[in-house]
Amino acid sequence: MRLTGGHWSERQAVNAAATIRHCLHWLEALEWTANFDRAAEGKEFKRTGFQFSDSEIYKLAEATAWEIGRTGDPGLEEELQKLTARIGAAQHEDGYLNTAFGNPGQEPRYSDLEWGHELYCFGHLIQAAVARLRNHGEDEFTRIARRAADHVCDTFGPGGIERICGHAEIEVALAELSRATGEPRYLEQARLFIERHGKGTLKENGLYYQDDVTVRDAEVLRGHAVRALYLTSGAIDVAVETGDAELLESLRRQWDRTVARRTHLTGGMGSQYADEAFGRDFALNPDEAYSESCAAIAAIMTAWRLTLATGEPHHGDMIERIAWNVLSGAVAPDGKSFFYANPLHQRTADPEPPTEGALPHLSAGGRRGHWFEVSCCPTNLARTFAQFAAYVATTSERGLQIHQFTPCTIDTVVDGARLALTVETSYPDDGVIAARIDANDGGARTVSFRVPHWAEGATITGPDGIARTAEPGSFADVTADFAPGDEIRLHLPIEPRWTYPHRRIDGLHGCAAVERGPEVWCVESIDLPAGADLADLAIDDRAPLSERDGRIVVQGLLGDRPGEWPYGPDADAGSGGPAEIALVPFRLRDTRGPAAMRVWNPIA
Ligand SMILES: [Zn+2]
Repeated sequence: MRLTGGHWSERQAVNAAATIRHCLHWLEALEWTANFDRAAEGKEFKRTGFQFSDSEIYKLAEATAWEIGRTGDPGLEEELQKLTARIGAAQHEDGYLNTAFGNPGQEPRYSDLEWGHELYCFGHLIQAAVARLRNHGEDEFTRIARRAADHVCDTFGPGGIERICGHAEIEVALAELSRATGEPRYLEQARLFIERHGKGTLKENGLYYQDDVTVRDAEVLRGHAVRALYLTSGAIDVAVETGDAELLESLRRQWDRTVARRTHLTGGMGSQYADEAFGRDFALNPDEAYSESCAAIAAIMTAWRLTLATGEPHHGDMIERIAWNVLSGAVAPDGKSFFYANPLHQRTADPEPPTEGALPHLSAGGRRGHWFEVSCCPTNLARTFAQFAAYVATTSERGLQIHQFTPCTIDTVVDGARLALTVETSYPDDGVIAARIDANDGGARTVSFRVPHWAEGATITGPDGIARTAEPGSFADVTADFAPGDEIRLHLPIEPRWTYPHRRIDGLHGCAAVERGPEVWCVESIDLPAGADLADLAIDDRAPLSERDGRIVVQGLLGDRPGEWPYGPDADAGSGGPAEIALVPFRLRDTRGPAAMRVWNPIA
């Protein structure tokens, strides 16, 4: 599976050329990598960064492992070798490895499971090792991670510390490591951690770290969004690998309810700044949306696992929505600044953030920042872009399924025989996705395309040249005894469309948004007439949406400022002078200078 052009391929190139090295620079500059060297000396030392900063080095190692698999970059291979040596030097005899606990002068191991993040850090070390195993095979890095995983099983197995970590992550990592190595012990330990959630083994605050109710009995995702989604991802892996259909069904229900009631139009999750958490059902105020970049990544992990577990197409819709809007927009086009939070409404045109030192992450949202004191997002984004090709297609006994539309080559084995094809498309600039068969050694095959839920009027054409209706929200199948050169064409209608919120979402009453294909668009104040305030704009959803120079254009009214008392006997009539406003894709906000921004605008 190889991306050969288009948006995601460009994002991978920027990730390789800029983001990975940018992250490495900051990890060195803030001496978060140096913590390993100091811990290795075995003496008391002054540590830098938060207690979980080791995980950033591991996430960067994961990004590097995926990138080496993609391009074989010798410079990155050298960086990974150097990191491996430094990480390995700090590992204790019994596999324990953490620069914040258990070293001379530090608090003892596992003395703060609520906030210590030791198992969380192990989780990211292990995920990086899984990336290395998949892209390279066993080496010193993967041996370090296995020693750590064995230590976790020895320490937290039956009769050991029968508790959980305050930040889920070890669960999904151990389940993945079990798949990658065939070692059942890791899966069993992941299962134990999943079963221990909700047993109140952590002090207070149970809802925040999903220790309030068992994973099996929960009804919806709640508490800290990244924790909740990493936990759900791990629980799906455990349910699938152990054949626990009841657990899988519960997780699917929780996810469906979360999508239906606790998710922003962009696919962003975690609707409140307080606790970086999921809010109540339908409490989806656009300006208060936290929608952390890491939560978007974790939601893609969850939706992907549900794709694999259920074969249902609509989880791919969710991945696409999150990827085009939150994931892609979280990194600047140059790959060197990042959104931590991704609200759908920015009230003020904020100045450029400082470019020195680490920024406080809770102030993030207005502008992209180069690095944060809690810098979970940049390295997480780097590893996700580097592995994006893995989310594009699947195979099953039904054949080959294409979930994401991007120029790529796929060369795989389905049902014991080779099937290779090339996908070409300019999606979502237009809606034509063409797949050409390069090789088919297996006779009659089915190639399927996900048809997004918004794609009313989509068609699919097989080698026979006959266009058939492709049902939105399903897979469009073409079954044929494909020969090299045969083509399948999916045609999706890509016209801009109005989108309205359910009345239960109080924060969006009287508002509409504009979407085109998978992308959410927004208004930025720099596109308003001089002196106008974005807060005074109302848009006319009865006027047709038009496109001009690659921009969607809406008609609107720029009304009067409110007077001394903003209430009265009449409904807001949407008065004011006419205005024509060009929208911009949400992912490209904050790329042209300071601006206020709105996805949802009041209807005139
Ligand atoms: Zn983050």
